[in-house]
Amino acid sequence: MYQMIFVFVFSFSMGTTLAQIDFKAQREHMVKVQLRNRDITDPATLEAMLKVPRHQFVPQNLREVAYTDGPLPIGEGQTISQPYIVAYMTQVLELQPDHKVLEIGTGSGYQAAVLAEIVDSVYTMEIVQKLGHYARKRLKKQRYNNVQVRIGDGYHGWPEKAPFDGIMVTAGAEQIPPKLTEQLKEGGKMIIPVGPHRGIRHLVLLTKKKGKIKRKNLMAVRFVPFTRKKEE
Ligand code: SAH
Repeated sequence: MYQMIFVFVFSFSMGTTLAQIDFKAQREHMVKVQLRNRDITDPATLEAMLKVPRHQFVPQNLREVAYTDGPLPIGEGQTISQPYIVAYMTQVLELQPDHKVLEIGTGSGYQAAVLAEIVDSVYTMEIVQKLGHYARKRLKKQRYNNVQVRIGDGYHGWPEKAPFDGIMVTAGAEQIPPKLTEQLKEGGKMIIPVGPHRGIRHLVLLTKKKGKIKRKNLMAVRFVPFTRKKEE
């Protein structure tokens, strides 16, 4: 009898430990196969992707597939981007530890956490109240104290906290919101998926140089749409 209890306790504790090791191993595998083997080379981005527990940002029933090579649903018809896209968009901003970044489209909060591992402060806006609320709670629980979540339409940016060294829009826009480029610092970079509503969008990289905006089209992507508040 004693032996049985021992076996039970032993296998239970082994089980939890293994589950934890497993997520870390999955994360390492993700970074190697999905990021390094492609074109992600920025050390800060790779390190952040190794660190942030993506499985804590997806719905409970999808934890086991959190590190797979694709986007996942996060409720309210929205998605958390594919790890590669998260890393790619982070890398192109060429972030530094003293940077201040604005993200539009908090969603799960995962991308904000990745940014928060690299920069000094992250300001992120989410239009869907429920998502913003949960992301805020999740980020707090994960001790990302350098992230502020604001619920509202990101079309106008966050002027009180501007200018930003980097701006990342994680919802597909038809046009580049002018208020966002205004809130970019001299030398700052912005990455945004742009294109027609039902068509193919491109990740567009904008750089502010001597007050002027330089535009570069990067790869074709799929993103959930950038929406606006009904009254606007
Ligand atoms: N970055 C997120 C995924 C973003 S999905 C993550 O890491 O999980 C795109 C998000 O943008 C959705 O949550 C959507 O509700 C939000 N969104 C769309 N239009 C917006 C707007 N105008 N302002 C703020 N958020 C917006």
